[in-house]
Amino acid sequence: MIGLGIETSCDETSLGIVKDGKELLSLKIFSQIDLHKPFRGIVPEIASRAHLEKINPLLSEVLEESGLKLSDLDYVAVTRSPGLTGSLMIGAQLARSIHAVYGTPIIPLCHLQAHFAVLHLEGVEPVFPVLGLLLSGGNSAIYRIPHFGKMEVVGDTMDDALGEAFDKVAGLLTLPYPGGPPIEKEASKYVPGPKEKDLLPPLLRNLEQDRVAFSFSGLKTAVSHLIAKQPELSTQAVCYHFQKSAFELVERNLKRAVSITGIKRILAGGGVLANSTLRNRLSQFAEKNSLEFFSPQKKIYCTDNGAMVAALGYYLFKQGYSKSLDFTVSPVRQETYI
Ligand code: AMP
Ligand code: MG
Repeated sequence: MIGLGIETSCDETSLGIVKDGKELLSLKIFSQIDLHKPFRGIVPEIASRAHLEKINPLLSEVLEESGLKLSDLDYVAVTRSPGLTGSLMIGAQLARSIHAVYGTPIIPLCHLQAHFAVLHLEGVEPVFPVLGLLLSGGNSAIYRIPHFGKMEVVGDTMDDALGEAFDKVAGLLTLPYPGGPPIEKEASKYVPGPKEKDLLPPLLRNLEQDRVAFSFSGLKTAVSHLIAKQPELSTQAVCYHFQKSAFELVERNLKRAVSITGIKRILAGGGVLANSTLRNRLSQFAEKNSLEFFSPQKKIYCTDNGAMVAALGYYLFKQGYSKSLDFTVSPVRQETYI
């Protein structure tokens, strides 16, 4: 079964073609980072205009690379939530157009779940239930996933997402946007002293023991105070301590989510999972606690992409979920549709 995946929720225009939910035939991503860079954040109007310009050329490219015609597609999966409404509409309209001409079933989906389905393109078997850890520019959450098409929130962020915190802290340190890659690079050059104390406070230290939650806006403020109070600190030291504090909360939350749900299989995704320090830390944590932990090996699969949408579309279509023209887009995540 061959499916096209369309992703236009935010600042990547991406199309992917996938066979049987596990074999990639073609993937193209146009990243809009350079367009948003001058504003150090995503400008919705610029995003939707860029999607509109790029989406048809990318469609031609994935069809050419896979040697397929639109009439060969068994389904068209498209991100319907969450995201910028104007951007989501561009992808939705392409799916509707293909449906109008070829009658291809449309699988409108929540792309947060797609971050977990992409792992099946790297050989991970679809076994449920699983815990899904999502850390991206707009989301930080842990979900219990009984099957694709349903997610229950185990813990969510109270304010900023982790990727957003990376981007804002990079701004404080006059590092480029987006902040994840330069902060990771600076932090990795730092060698802490043998008994070096943490320079930033533990996050959410008063949270009830049985709760899972993220909060990163206080960390950003703490970094700005640290820089003001100790201007002699190197950028490398600040980046190292910022990552340490943030990742400690991620690990603590994962530990609690495992103990609350009893689920020992974890799938992780989202742009922040491109961070090697985080991946290594979580892999070691999983090994120590006899957990199964999977995150994308290819960094391109961490970011929003059409292949993950096509992959999740396959598992939803197999469960009988499909729509025709009558679906809407939404800025809010959709937890359940099957
Ligand atoms: P997404 O929202 O999934 O497209 O991911 C984008 C977010 O991931 C941005 O906030 C980036 O700063 C963040 N990000 C990208 N690479 C890294 C990295 N190596 N370490 C931490 N965060 C990253
Ligand atoms: Mg993005």
